[in-house]
Formats: sequence, structure tokens, C-alpha cells
Amino acid sequence: MKSTVCRPRSAWVQVDLEQLARNWEILRREVPASVSLMFVAKDNAYGLGAVEAARVALDHHADSLAVFTLGEAQELRDAGITAPILLLGERLADEVPHVLELDLEPCVGSVEMAEAFSHAGRTRGRPVPIHLKVNTGMNRFGFSWRNVDSWGPILKTLPALEFRGALSHFAQSDELDKGFARTQSQRFEGVLKCLSAQDIRPQWIHHCNSGGVLDLPDAHFNRVRVGLLAQGVYPSEVCRRLEGVLPVLSLRARLTAIQELEIGDTVGYGMRWRAERPSRIGVLSVGYGDGYPRLRNQGQALLHGRRVPIVGGVTMDALMIDLADVPEAQLGDETVLLGMQGTDCITVQELARLSGTVTYDVLAGFRARLPRVYCPQV
Ligand SMILES: *Cc1c(COP(=O)(O)O)cnc(C)c1O
Repeated sequence: MKSTVCRPRSAWVQVDLEQLARNWEILRREVPASVSLMFVAKDNAYGLGAVEAARVALDHHADSLAVFTLGEAQELRDAGITAPILLLGERLADEVPHVLELDLEPCVGSVEMAEAFSHAGRTRGRPVPIHLKVNTGMNRFGFSWRNVDSWGPILKTLPALEFRGALSHFAQSDELDKGFARTQSQRFEGVLKCLSAQDIRPQWIHHCNSGGVLDLPDAHFNRVRVGLLAQGVYPSEVCRRLEGVLPVLSLRARLTAIQELEIGDTVGYGMRWRAERPSRIGVLSVGYGDGYPRLRNQGQALLHGRRVPIVGGVTMDALMIDLADVPEAQLGDETVLLGMQGTDCITVQELARLSGTVTYDVLAGFRARLPRVYCPQV
């Protein structure tokens, strides 16, 4: 049974709900009013906590949500969220009854699944609202843009489908070169035209993720799908910036131990760091078991507004920092491993670069074992 008591922990992910709301307000002003804002809350809303982040989004102009798995959708429904939920990706036949039970709008990218949903819709006596997924070059999910003349007419014959939407997904939307993105958009528009000629006119047309929201205004159609940008993180270094859109997630930990080292003493597994002078080493009880990257003698924390280096390797439960430049540091002091302290900021881009991955991976990688602290409290 899930306990409702939140036990204290000296390390946590903090989410600034006021900034999150401000980000949505700015996004709403940025995108034409005729364009619906869908919040992509998959993978625990990239670390924010899906339910809390979805509530803020829905209270601030988002009109629908997207997730990838049935479990993610269930979590939102269990929390009482009744907004439309798009189920990204592709289903298998045994998922169909669950999609209906949770009142979801699945993406459909094959004739087999279109038939399965139509069959289920007929059985229950009400059409199933689906979004036609069109593969325009990502080559992951969806009906091929090349042969709409073969799959379009079949869809038309299925009695119990409602074409709630049609979507495609960019393979590259956040780089300077928008060439392939434009090719994909043209392919998508071609497919929509063919569908329309067959009297299939989906209600919601959507192609853009965060990169497209920023840099491909011609491809907004009447809905955009926003994930990363909502939490104030940009999908790349080169995409357009929106003034006032700022990060909402930070990783914090309090000093839980301090060790006094003599010259020649080493720190951690493999003795990877050696003291060259008498040293004070601070210990933070957060490690790769929480999703912090497994760095070695790399990475920094902010403490009393200063940057201090991580020394030795990050372990599963803890990491060590050199307190040489912060003599006033004491047990219980708050450090920031990701986010702002004073005037300095450790960005998610910085952490992603150090660990050889992308921002999405760092954010979504923070595990459930790290409590989420919402400010102001919810
Ligand atoms: C994850 C995802 C998005 C959101 O992408 P962001 O870059 O986070 O905005 C949009 N559409 C699809 C199909 C996705 O899988």
C-alpha cells in the first residue's frame, strides 16, 4: 500500500509551480489563440510529477494531455483528471479495452489497430476517438505518408471510429537546418489533403513538439504538443528563446556528513581522488541510485553561492564535495546540484553534457526515490 505520509529526506527534487504557471502563460501569449495547447506529461512529466504538472498546465491554458503508457494515463485518471488524454505511440490488441475504460484518445498507425478500435467501438455502441498517426520521416510510428491512397479508403469504411485528430512527429525540429522538418510538414499536408478528398477531416491537426512550437510557426496547425519547454528548458542551444520562460525543476541536497582528510587520504570507491592538502569533504546523500549522473571527479554543487567540485566517483547513495572554498559550511547546509543558488546556476544542459546525454534524459532520469517538493506547497 502506498503510504500517504511523506518521510523526510535530505535530498529532493524541487518544483517551482509558480514559474511553471508563468511558463504556460507566456506560451499561451506566444502561440496564436486558435492553436490548442496540449501538455505532454509522459515519463512523469519529465521528472516534475505528472499529476501536479498536469494540473498546473490545465489551469493555465493547456486543454489536453498526452502520455505514452496506459499506466501513465491511469495515474492521471486516478487523480481525478478528466481532460482529454492522447495516448502516444502504438497499441497492441490486448490494450484496446483499457484504452476505452480509461476514456483515452489513442494514436493509430496501422489498419489492424484501426479495425480493432472500430470493432471495440461498435461493441460498446459508441465510436472511439482516435488520432491518425502519420509517419512522414521519423520512421517510428504511424501510417506511411507515401500510400495514403491505400490506407485512407479502408479507414473510411470502418464504422465506429471518430477522427478526433491527425498528427505527425518531427525527426529534427530544434536545429538551425529546418530542411527535413519542412519536408515532413509538406508530406503531412499532402496526406491531410488526400484524407480530406476522401471526406476524412480530423478535428485536431498537430505536428509540433517544443522545437516546432518555437521555430516552425507555419506547422502549428490547430494544436501543438508541448513537453520540455513547459518546464522552462529549451530543446537545443540554437532554438528561439522566450523571455521569461525559466526552469522550474531543481535538485537539492543538504550536507549530511563532513570528513576531515589529511594529505594523501583518498575519497570513495577506487580511491579516485587524493587530498593534496588537509581537506574537508562534504557528503550529500544523493547518488546514481536517484538518477544523478555517475560522474567521477566531475560536476559541481552550489553551496553558500559558490561552486564546489564533486570529488571521487558518485556512488549509488551519496556523493562527496570538496569544501575547501567554503570554510563556513556546516552539517545541514543546503546545496544545489541542478538549478539556481544566489546568482549562479547549474543548468540541465551542463549536467547533460557532463554525462554524455540529452536534457530530457537527465530530467526524466530522477527516480521516484527522490521526493518531489512543490513550492508553494500543494
Ligand atoms: C515526447 C513527445 C512530444 C513532446 O516533445 P517535447 O520536445 O518535449 O516538446 C511531442 N510529440 C511526441 C509524439 C512525443 O513523443
